[in-house]
Amino acid sequence: MDLTGKGALVTGASRGIGRAIAVALAKAGADVAINYAGNEEAAKKTEELCAAYGVNTLVIKADVANAEECKTMIDCVKEHFGKIDILVNNAGITKDKLMLGMTEADFMDVINTNLKGSFLCMQMVSKLMIKQRYGRIINLSSVVGLHGNAGQVNYAASKAGVIGMTKSAAKELASRNITVNAVAPGMIETDMTAVISEKAKEAMLGSIPAARAGKPEEIADAVAFLASDRAAYITGQVISVDGGMGI
Ligand code: NAP
Repeated sequence: MDLTGKGALVTGASRGIGRAIAVALAKAGADVAINYAGNEEAAKKTEELCAAYGVNTLVIKADVANAEECKTMIDCVKEHFGKIDILVNNAGITKDKLMLGMTEADFMDVINTNLKGSFLCMQMVSKLMIKQRYGRIINLSSVVGLHGNAGQVNYAASKAGVIGMTKSAAKELASRNITVNAVAPGMIETDMTAVISEKAKEAMLGSIPAARAGKPEEIADAVAFLASDRAAYITGQVISVDGGMGI
């Protein structure tokens, strides 16, 4: 994959899957803007890993659920790199609870970050991409958005919403040489899954034909492919990277 000269923005790139995506894009030659919500030290570590590939980098704090902060972030990335060719909507949170105990705030916080945040960034960046007549947008969904999961009504709704939004935006933007795709990871080893109990993890592992959790780099490889010109004719798709969990 050659992304030399491309400008990329990865949301939630301080840790986990987002960090691996930022590094994979930098390794392929793209300049990378690393967004984070609060963990500046981790974001700077991601920047160090990206800069080792000789690309331009930018670390930028913004809450993707906040429209004003998204606008400031996107203006700043555009000013820094001159363009945004690749947007990866990766920032995400969980607030797991069985539905009967889930508060309205638990529901809305997850929707606002995972779904509204992806919408805001996608809407603002696609305006630039339309002018450029080029763009690659990759949204992080989840196996849970495709199949549901007890204790994750809020998260499943946000990730299923991301899929609907991806397909609709793909139809709106295809004629402008902009592709919009989603990647649906299964169970990946990050801080997000580190909080799952050993018992629940064992049950999940039992449902994965590959019999192991995935690594953030395995998601990043799929994202880097979708960001490349080799994926120019793929749009509106959901690529599961889950060791067969969703079969
Ligand atoms: P993670 O390790 O918990 O990292 C979350 C990242 O999102 C961090 O960089 C965090 O920034 C950032 N973030 C959270 N809220 C934000 C906000 N409001 N604005 C901007 N950034 C925000 O998560 P992960 O496991 O890497 O997950 C990454 C994506 O993959 C998520 O969309 C998740 O839903 C999806 N996914 C993960 C799995 C899995 O098994 N891990 C499976 C399916 C899908 P700070 O460091 O500053 O807090």
